[in-house]
Amino acid sequence: MNRRDFLKAAAGGAAVACTGGAQARGNLEPAPQAVGMLFDSTLCVGCKACVSKCKEVNGMPPVTLEGKEAWDWASDLSPKTLNVIKLYQHGEGNLKDQVENGFAFEKRSCMHCVDPGCVSVCPVTALRRHPVTGIVTFHVDACIGCRTCTTGCPYNVPHFDYDDPFGEIYKCQMCNQDGVRRIDNGQITGCAEACPTGATLFGSREALMKEAKRRMALKPGETYNYPMGDVSKPGSYHEKATPAYQDHIWGEKEAGGTNVLHISAVPFDKLGMPPLPERSYASISEGVQHTLYSFMALPAVALAGLTYVVRKNLDAPAEDADAIDDKGQEEDKS
Ligand code: SF4
Ligand code: SF4
Ligand code: SF4
Repeated sequence: MNRRDFLKAAAGGAAVACTGGAQARGNLEPAPQAVGMLFDSTLCVGCKACVSKCKEVNGMPPVTLEGKEAWDWASDLSPKTLNVIKLYQHGEGNLKDQVENGFAFEKRSCMHCVDPGCVSVCPVTALRRHPVTGIVTFHVDACIGCRTCTTGCPYNVPHFDYDDPFGEIYKCQMCNQDGVRRIDNGQITGCAEACPTGATLFGSREALMKEAKRRMALKPGETYNYPMGDVSKPGSYHEKATPAYQDHIWGEKEAGGTNVLHISAVPFDKLGMPPLPERSYASISEGVQHTLYSFMALPAVALAGLTYVVRKNLDAPAEDADAIDDKGQEEDKS
């Protein structure tokens, strides 16, 4: 191989990497029997029964302030708190579900993304999306503690326990991890079970989406029987006048969609939800990774070419080596 042929081969490798190598994929589809929750901010009264129940189910201690041990003061997700209720407040803050001089509640826990960034970035599959239910779980046996998942989540959900020398990642696993298994045992999530108003509702993603769309279509002021517990088998109903919902189901499309859906009368940016594209970050980053890996074909081609030239020079008799050198010099001039 002379230098011209070698450069041609290298250019060919680059072209292959540039064209065929960029294998961007689309968003993943919801799992075939995806389960999730619907959080309706307009029903939430901020009682935090869901926070306490979540701690009970997951065996987590309350976050206490000195001298105030009787109350859980968790204000954000952490290794001790997998679910929090946050408050939006403006002006005098006395009008429920109003932007001006109003207030509203927002639930924060894992959204169980349809195409989860945490699963995509984990190098050892310690985070997994269940192929049937879509529940995203954490597997401590596989985790190497690299914490990459904490950067791959658009909702800042996974938290690493830095206080523990053998620290691990903590996030809501929809009450279906080893030692809990509520969903596999036919129960609903702890937070949905404890919610006294139906603000947190459990069910299949499909049924929850239909319920959310039904609420969107109601006229403000119309009375509606809000199901409580499980959307398909409600334990009871909460009768209430319908608010003026935002025409937006959070999780229908955001970053590929989520199995936990939110609806509200206050815009989601006021509730602190991040601006997200419809395309999942996992599909974008995996496309970039595949392109980069394809570009690694180029150094491989270069290495193979160099090895061939060096081998040929070492094996060739002295006069042949001179001839190769002369040819190379001629081509340099051209
Ligand atoms: S919200 Fe974050 S932690 Fe939960 S599934 Fe999505 S990417 Fe993973
Ligand atoms: S599903 Fe279970 S772990 Fe997740 S927020 Fe609700 S109670 Fe907590
Ligand atoms: S239990 Fe229900 S009403 Fe109470 S804070 Fe949680 S979501 Fe809101």
